[in-house]
Amino acid sequence: MAERITVHGLCVRETEIGEADKIITLVTMEYGRLSVSGKGVKSLKSRHMAATQPFAYSLFTLRKSKKNYYIEESELIECFWEIRGDIEKLSLAAYICDVCADVSVEGEADPELLRLTLNSLFAVNKGMQTEKVKAAFELRCAEVIGFCPDLTVCGACGCELSGDSYIDIMNGRLLCRDCKPRAEREEELEGSTSRLYMLLSPGTVAAMRYIVQSAPERFLSFNLAEDDMHLLSQVCEAYLTNHLEHGFGTLNFYKSILL
Ligand SMILES: [Zn+2]
Repeated sequence: MAERITVHGLCVRETEIGEADKIITLVTMEYGRLSVSGKGVKSLKSRHMAATQPFAYSLFTLRKSKKNYYIEESELIECFWEIRGDIEKLSLAAYICDVCADVSVEGEADPELLRLTLNSLFAVNKGMQTEKVKAAFELRCAEVIGFCPDLTVCGACGCELSGDSYIDIMNGRLLCRDCKPRAEREEELEGSTSRLYMLLSPGTVAAMRYIVQSAPERFLSFNLAEDDMHLLSQVCEAYLTNHLEHGFGTLNFYKSILL
């Protein structure tokens, strides 16, 4: 990697160091996740202060010295200002950035993941229903990082699904009403304890298919009744967190403020 690099980066995490400094985690279009030393950026006098705020998306010129990156130039592109004034928006945006930081790879570009994150933050900023953005982000993120569930037909018998069906979270497949009890019995015989099935309505299945198949900038252009939206949110969250094999403190916080 060159001594000096120019990157488009979203500030997804920050660690405060003393009075004036921060370590910033950027997810960049060009090099994936990068950790950047922000010397003095907390000072009001710093010309990099705006570009190093949480959720800021900026153009950076970074200099590499030994193992660390330092900011030479920064130019704010988008700061998602409206997110900051509302605790529900703020907490969802923090979770979205947390997931993006978690699944991005250091030094490895994933423009689709960053675009998904930016599009989601843009929707939160505009005031779109947070539950909808959360669910669609979670499922599309699973698709982008390569473990999308098979949503086409019943994953056991291959029939077209009609009426209610089930998602087999751990195996990333849908099951019809006939196959679900059979799959449960088989797992019982095998002594498996990891099964997790969730009931899906036809509307929820249609929304899930739309989320993973639509163009990147259109993945939020769907509507669902309130009950189906709650279900979608629960299913997408269970799917993503089970496949990442951990939860998120920011997710718990987002859910706690909705209670
Ligand atoms: Zn079946």
